[in-house]
Amino acid sequence: MKFVNEYRDPALGKKLLERIHRHSRKPARLMEFCGGHTVAIFKHGLRQLLPPNIEMLSGPGCPVCVTAAADLDKAIALGKLPDVIITSFGDMLRVPGSRSSLQQAKAEGADIRIVYSAQDALAIARDNPGKSVVFIGIGFETTAPTIAASILQAEQEKLKNYFVLSLHKLCPPIMKAILDLGEVKINGIICPGHVSAVIGSRPYQFLADDYHIACAVSGFEPVDILLAVDRLVEQIENNRPEVAVPYSRSVKPEGNMTALRLMDTVFETGDADWRGIGMVPASGLKLKGRYEKFDVTKKFDIKATPSREPKGCICGAVLRGVNIPNECKLFRDTCTPEHPVGPCMVSTEGSCAAYYQYESKIMYL
Ligand code: SF4
Repeated sequence: MKFVNEYRDPALGKKLLERIHRHSRKPARLMEFCGGHTVAIFKHGLRQLLPPNIEMLSGPGCPVCVTAAADLDKAIALGKLPDVIITSFGDMLRVPGSRSSLQQAKAEGADIRIVYSAQDALAIARDNPGKSVVFIGIGFETTAPTIAASILQAEQEKLKNYFVLSLHKLCPPIMKAILDLGEVKINGIICPGHVSAVIGSRPYQFLADDYHIACAVSGFEPVDILLAVDRLVEQIENNRPEVAVPYSRSVKPEGNMTALRLMDTVFETGDADWRGIGMVPASGLKLKGRYEKFDVTKKFDIKATPSREPKGCICGAVLRGVNIPNECKLFRDTCTPEHPVGPCMVSTEGSCAAYYQYESKIMYL
């Protein structure tokens, strides 16, 4: 398969690793922002193959994991209202809110349905005109355009029973927030490939200019990731940070203009609540005034209740890169993918799930 097989080529991977080992001298702490990268790095055993002076840290790029317990509580409260159907990606169902989960609410009788896209939710709205159908909109800039498209379509069809709970998050503002917290020193960031295919590589320029951090936008195959690490090493060794785009087969500096226009038509930036990080200004998306009629928070008055994290779970610190999953006392013994305590073990893109599944395994080269 063109554009895939060559990025899984072990010979190419070996060459890149040799190059990285030859050139990397300075201690370098690299954060892979995206949960998809975390999984790929673990699956292919890349951490173990890098030189010991390179430390890899996982970041907050797992949409399910960063959804705040308070926002999940709202989704659960909505599901308990009469004549409301909640539609959600499957991963969200097992994520713990403060006192319950969508899965538990479903078991107690709430009409909560798993969908694979906002289009599926629209179809449910068409089929159930007497009910309010709410789509739980999670994800980063990657998913937001498709949800924007669903809202435009609902307007075109004059659907009056389709609503979105917009919990979308934005990557560049949270990168800045984590750096401003100053809890972890990072020398380089592997920037997310799918998000960058939408927003382009330009929005990361501030990381190189203002924070002196090396950046490389990466795809998700092992050779993609090694190419990104190689570009980061080069920048760090030469003390010349920039935004490199080794994933240029998918990412342009300006992004995908069609997707950006869709997002800009329907959404505007707003403050967002991040699990383990808190409220971050302008790091989320809310519906613009013209599309407020699709905003479920305008349709129903959901009272916020005090939220709390699962006892003993350190997902927040894991998402900030302060701790690694096996530093959590609950990891493996109490918290497992079958019986997850926190969201980072629920999601397939969560760091805890990746550590659990792949730790110590080397499957590549
Ligand atoms: Fe939370 Fe489980 Fe990860 Fe611990 S191992 S941080 S309890 S998800």
